[in-house]
Amino acid sequence: MIPLSEAREFVLSKCVQGPAVTVPVDDAADLVTAADLAAVGPIPPFDNTAMDGFAVRAADVASAPVTLSMIGTIAAGAVPDITVGEGQAVRIMTGAPMPPGADAVVMVELTNMSEDQTTVDVSESVPVGNHIRPTGDDVQTGQVVFQAGTVLRPAHLGVCTSIGVYDVPVIARPRVGVISTGDELVDGPRPLGIGQIHDSNRHTLLALVNAMGATAVDLGLVPDDEDQIRDAMTAAAASCDAVITSGGVSMGDFDFVKKVLTEIGDMRWMQVAIKPAKPLAFGTVDGTPIFGLPGNPVSSMVSFELFARPGIRKMMGHAEPVVATVAGVAGADMLRGPDGKTHFARVHATMRDDGRYEASFSGGQGSHQLSAMAAANALAVIPSGDGVHKGDPVDLLLL
Ligand code: AMP
Ligand code: MG
Repeated sequence: MIPLSEAREFVLSKCVQGPAVTVPVDDAADLVTAADLAAVGPIPPFDNTAMDGFAVRAADVASAPVTLSMIGTIAAGAVPDITVGEGQAVRIMTGAPMPPGADAVVMVELTNMSEDQTTVDVSESVPVGNHIRPTGDDVQTGQVVFQAGTVLRPAHLGVCTSIGVYDVPVIARPRVGVISTGDELVDGPRPLGIGQIHDSNRHTLLALVNAMGATAVDLGLVPDDEDQIRDAMTAAAASCDAVITSGGVSMGDFDFVKKVLTEIGDMRWMQVAIKPAKPLAFGTVDGTPIFGLPGNPVSSMVSFELFARPGIRKMMGHAEPVVATVAGVAGADMLRGPDGKTHFARVHATMRDDGRYEASFSGGQGSHQLSAMAAANALAVIPSGDGVHKGDPVDLLLL
């Protein structure tokens, strides 16, 4: 057995950051910027009002209550072609540009307009600049809004378009093929024959890949047949940036994934000192990284979290490919025996009043018990030994 860190370093050494490309902003979510993004103009681009109300000269309302004469209305999007003179006010709507002459906004709640809309009573004085959002208050011209290496979340995309960047330089989104292997697997809601099970891994893995911002490519089910596995693996490596398979990497007689990948790829077969997910096949076929995950549903997910996710994050340009654990507390005893392996227990963690996560088992810990994985929101990292007791510190990998 080799330590988790060694296996993961090997994986990361073969996963290479993708090329820099320019993509439309609506295709950029969850990608990492490949260059600094600077604002070509200020945000907001002009002085505007943060409130519906009246644009006034602060000096005119200093002795409020006062009555001003109403000389017009400016809506959002309008050109501010009215100049506010002494004793005058202009009705103005949120987001509309400030008219020349005015230096403050009185919100509508502090005003009372005459029925014929020729005058407005202002009940309180306001300071210069009141409710005005000045030019460049959020971002100034030339300011680097995001440095290279920023992960683009929804708010970032909004900032991109607000500074006029509709095509964004990013590290390309990798296409990750997902293949299930096994004669026992059935696709779709068909009744099961004797010895058959529904393929669950592929659907879970496709969703995990998409959720992390890569593009999952469904490459279907392949039976335990050497030729079909060879064809599927070769085609997958040629058409995708990375490939994830599940099943067929253990010690069984029909574990042909292992045999085929040994022939066509540059693979390393690892027994990692972890439970679940001890067997891992990882290497490259024609330069494309291949993650050969174990078939047991929980094992394939844990293996994805520990190896495939960091590898794909590196390909996507994340500065920290390995997701850090957080320090939590055991909410109940989580006992085990010493076996030289780090256990990744399926746990449910809740945030305590003191801001720490408290975790306990989310269900059965067998590597076939996928329902406990579904009920889990974290994996508890339990080092080899007798386990942890209620109240002990425990590291958590949040899912
Ligand atoms: P293997 O790694 O091929 O020896 O499979 C280990 C266990 O995982 C066996 O019980 C398989 O039936 C099961 N298994 C393999 N692939 C899948 C899959 N795609 N969905 C659900 N179970 C699977
Ligand atoms: Mg199998």
